[in-house]
Amino acid sequence: MSNKYDVAVIGVGAAGSSATYHLAKTGKKILAIDQFHPPHNSGSSHRQSRIIREAYFESPVYEPLVQAYRLWYELEKESAKKLLLKTGGLMLGKPGSTVVKGAAESALKHNLPYPECKTY
Ligand SMILES: Cc1cc2nc3c(=O)[nH]c(=O)nc-3n(C[C@H](O)[C@H](O)[C@H](O)COP(=O)(O)OP(=O)(O)OC[C@H]3O[C@@H](n4cnc5c(N)ncnc54)[C@H](O)[C@@H]3O)c2cc1C
Repeated sequence: MSNKYDVAVIGVGAAGSSATYHLAKTGKKILAIDQFHPPHNSGSSHRQSRIIREAYFESPVYEPLVQAYRLWYELEKESAKKLLLKTGGLMLGKPGSTVVKGAAESALKHNLPYPECKTY
């Protein structure tokens, strides 16, 4: 067996395992290395559930990157498993707060469905 690889991926959490999976599909020889044997539960993207937000309050620059979430649908088809539950998002806070204002700005910039801000 040859020990030559086209690409080495160090760390096989969410990002590394996705990179490994998609690189392997190109026919390249990939070496994926992790400190623990995957699947393990010691990384930051492991365990039961994670959220993906489109209206990113931190900054609208994340939104195009977040669109990669659609790859989960491909993975659902290929694995015949339900992996992604799409819901709306509820941002709570004062209208001018970082979270509410930032999420609204992100939604507006990227034409995401965004209901008016309600005050209670
Ligand atoms: C508790 C928690 C909750 C989070 N919730 C969310 C969320 O809901 N939504 C969200 O978008 N983000 C969330 N994050 C941020 C999340 O970490 C990132 O979004 C993303 O999942 C990180 O993926 P990753 O593949 O880069 O890292 P990881 O999934 O942590 O993968 C890194 C991998 O590298 C391996 N590794 C590390 N060091 C070495 C080494 N020296 N040698 C070999 N292997 C190594 C680890 O074992 C691990 O498998 C959360 C983070 C934490 C800690």
